[in-house]
Amino acid sequence: MEPSSGKILAMVSKPDYDPNTINETWNDLINKEKESQNDDTKENESALLNRATQGLYPPGSTFKILTILEYIRENPDYEDYTYHCEGTGVFNSVTINCYNNKKHGEVNLLESFAKSCNTSFANISTSLSAESFRKLCDTFLFNNPLPTDFVYNRSSFVIDKKSENYELPQTSIGQGDTQITPLHNGLIVATIANGGAMMKPYVVDHVENESGIVTKKYMPEIFDTLMTPEEADILTSYMAEVVNSGTATALSGKEYSVAGKTGSAEYQENMPAHAWFVGFSNIEKPDIVVSIIVESVGTGSDYAVPIAAKIFDAYYDE
Ligand SMILES: [Zn+2]
Repeated sequence: MEPSSGKILAMVSKPDYDPNTINETWNDLINKEKESQNDDTKENESALLNRATQGLYPPGSTFKILTILEYIRENPDYEDYTYHCEGTGVFNSVTINCYNNKKHGEVNLLESFAKSCNTSFANISTSLSAESFRKLCDTFLFNNPLPTDFVYNRSSFVIDKKSENYELPQTSIGQGDTQITPLHNGLIVATIANGGAMMKPYVVDHVENESGIVTKKYMPEIFDTLMTPEEADILTSYMAEVVNSGTATALSGKEYSVAGKTGSAEYQENMPAHAWFVGFSNIEKPDIVVSIIVESVGTGSDYAVPIAAKIFDAYYDE
């Protein structure tokens, strides 16, 4: 997606089907859907579901972008934050582990984000106002319609002022009951890339009549300004550090610069995580935003970051 216009350049959902042959394959698609629903051993194909706009997933650590923003808004002295990570810890009576119980040691806020230190974020969460966090997430369109005409599902963030304390640690690291679509996650990152203004996403550039004359042209439209340019700059620098020294270093040393965030979203015990990467290229004047999820494979670093690299490479023709 182009962050400055909201124009979606490409959208992919797998497994898919060929719309050109939908008449011939329709019954087959429906039968497969029914089979997978009635038989637990069959993978849920759901080829008719556009996962990019309709798939709801836990955001995992990509959600730390909003947790950081909430923390920065509540704590003007955020740069003084430090935490000693032992790889695991108990916060509001909930045990939170870093990935593979890795001990990150002494971390400031930037390092907590770049290394995706879960225990540090759980520590942060214990100080956050649930009411204000909810307001921020509602502003960023959780529990709300997205400003677009095409079919999608609404993301949800369930914490509010009535929530129990124990709900905050998991929620702050993108687990708990939060759910988001890849489209929505991309929109949030596009807002950062665009200096704080969210553009309405759209897929049709123009309509032509049979003589090739343009009868309708779609123009970029701003939805709302959701953060200050200063906040967008801070988040961008944090996301750049993820690529420089954190969980997405595979995207460093390229012809283009990248800022982003990985996520490894757990959704079921004993199953590999969903792998996430959200980010944008050409930090000084952002060109494109990507939002990638690979279901049930492992970490964002291992499985989503390489796809981001392929997309950026193709865009810049490297
Ligand atoms: Zn840690």
